[in-house]
Amino acid sequence: MSIPATQTAAVFHEHGGPENVKFEEIAVPEPGQGEVLVNIKYTGVCHTDLHALQGDWPLPAKLPLVGGHEGAGIVVKLGPGVTQLKLGDRVGVKWLNSSCGNCEYCMASQESICPNAKFSGYLVDGSFQHYCVANAAHATKIPESVSLEVAAPIMCAGITVYRALKEAGVHPGEWVCIPGAGGGLGHLAVQYARAMSMRVVAIDTGVEKEELLKSLGAEVFLDFKKVPDMVEAVKEATNGGAHGTLVLSTSPKSYEQAAGWARPGSTMVTVSMPAGAKLGADIFWLTVKMLKVCGSHVGNRLDSCEAVEYVARGQVKPVYKVWPFSTLPDVYHAMHENKIAGRIVLDLSK
Ligand SMILES: [Zn+2]
Ligand SMILES: [Zn+2]
Repeated sequence: MSIPATQTAAVFHEHGGPENVKFEEIAVPEPGQGEVLVNIKYTGVCHTDLHALQGDWPLPAKLPLVGGHEGAGIVVKLGPGVTQLKLGDRVGVKWLNSSCGNCEYCMASQESICPNAKFSGYLVDGSFQHYCVANAAHATKIPESVSLEVAAPIMCAGITVYRALKEAGVHPGEWVCIPGAGGGLGHLAVQYARAMSMRVVAIDTGVEKEELLKSLGAEVFLDFKKVPDMVEAVKEATNGGAHGTLVLSTSPKSYEQAAGWARPGSTMVTVSMPAGAKLGADIFWLTVKMLKVCGSHVGNRLDSCEAVEYVARGQVKPVYKVWPFSTLPDVYHAMHENKIAGRIVLDLSK
């Protein structure tokens, strides 16, 4: 396979809006020790990519930056010392590009909180380019039965909600409440939750989302534009409160409400990160209901493999539309206006 010296990449040099994204000819990177070069075929676009572009997170990003962390492609070159992958392997490039492997967190399989972790499309160049460097230990092998375009959204959205559901500690037959269930993460969360034998209360708005989420297995759908008292509605639907809550909504209000509908002793997992949001939950109820609040940020390597396996078994099917690579700025516009149902996957060949 011949690898060109240069390639087209979606780059931004300064933080700002979609107009800052330029398609430029840049060098194809060289994989270093323990790294591989991946020829990206498809990449999802995540809300985090928009935050990286806007520069509104408290974590500084690399500049200039090639974003993207839901890449799926083929290994085309091995750096020195790579033994776990070979040329032609199908792999995913995820948010956690690498971790040190030696700190207390890495030793405990908590790689996503490794202080030396490198994030794709944020601290290192990501998947919005044809050739991207990935750490061989962290690249997720994609089973033959899963197409690369289907695998792409699993690399962030899928792994994230799957791990967060584990953190929620909801047992089979118990209720998980998911505010923001109709989005890119949410529609996957509903399916993982069902596959893990949880019962789902989905919160979102509109008939389209209601139909989609019910078809994916949500037993109860509550429309936040129609239900006057969401806390009471969830308590009633779950006969006393949700056994766990996964907050995927971009409205900070969900965090406040979640403490209200939480069953005593349950866990509320924070996943979405509305810019500048603070936890508004009532400390009185957090205390007397003995609630746990738990942040969850992507997953480890095993979570990643397991998340893809659910797809291979047909239990989870991402809902997505394929757009040409050149439309990335339009995806950001649509995202900004909250107009995307499911996920947009970019086809790098177009
Ligand atoms: Zn580490
Ligand atoms: Zn992401």
